[in-house]
Amino acid sequence: MKATQFKSLLAGLASLTPSQRKKLAEALSPTAPPVLRPRSMDALQPHACPHCLGEKVVRNGVCDGLQRYLCRSCFRTFNATTGTPLSRLRDKEQFDAYADCMRQGLSVRAAAARVGLTVDKAFRWRHRFLQSVVPHQPKGVVGLLEVDETYFRESQKGSRKLTRPARYSGGRAKGAGRKAGDWVPVLVGRVRGQPYTVDKVLVKLNGVEVTAALKDAVKPGETVVCTDGHSAFLRLHTSLGVETKYFVAGYHGHTNKTFHVQTANNYHEQLKTWIQRGLRGVATKYLPNYLAWHRLMTWNKAGLTSFDVLRSAFGQQVINT
Ligand SMILES: [Zn+2]
Repeated sequence: MKATQFKSLLAGLASLTPSQRKKLAEALSPTAPPVLRPRSMDALQPHACPHCLGEKVVRNGVCDGLQRYLCRSCFRTFNATTGTPLSRLRDKEQFDAYADCMRQGLSVRAAAARVGLTVDKAFRWRHRFLQSVVPHQPKGVVGLLEVDETYFRESQKGSRKLTRPARYSGGRAKGAGRKAGDWVPVLVGRVRGQPYTVDKVLVKLNGVEVTAALKDAVKPGETVVCTDGHSAFLRLHTSLGVETKYFVAGYHGHTNKTFHVQTANNYHEQLKTWIQRGLRGVATKYLPNYLAWHRLMTWNKAGLTSFDVLRSAFGQQVINT
């Protein structure tokens, strides 16, 4: 339609009769009536009784904003959070809203304000929501698995008692950051061209720990593990039983266009920026949860839904599948 025609159409709108207005509104609204989505938590109906695994379960009222079920075999009641880290939290009717804050990566303060929780409670919820996601690691990946380590400064953020001298802003405790104990190694494996991520906080970077971190993620004959020449990686061929490729550090990307760990390194950069700038550092004891959160947020290029966050918190593996 030409601009002048549209202008006269708009001018004519004032003289429409009520029934004409109605017809116009119908013509402009989308053809399909909006589909009402079921409430997320109702969609998480348990298939079996978590107490006896019996499958004869019936609805049995609503408690704390959640559908309650009764098992016909053992006569015990449960809901979708029974047996998960969320089971003992109150105000479950707020889980939906909180999951949406997690999806967006909101700070504890922002999430607390949005959902109407205290800051302490929002922090506790964050870690309960992430607890089930920590073991959601890939299994037996097919392809080139780039493995590399990165380090995070050991942090006692939030602790009331420090077991080391305090660091002051603008300065450091004497010698801080120089000893091995000041840094926590984190192993990250990324599958080239696929969204799979395996990660683990290690006590020490050595062959035994690396093997334990990777053993479920690889599959002999299907996975090729690519690393730099660090001694911790040199026996993976034997300990994991998979094909391995090494490159000499210092020649990143220059001499070998196939066997590098650029994908894993990019992931490190993103992770570190988020933790150090976005979150202003995290306590070491919570680091596994933050790795899980990052894995969750980066799994789907099309974006994460709050339902994915909720399902994951309830223990269903959404990522790395
Ligand atoms: Zn039962």
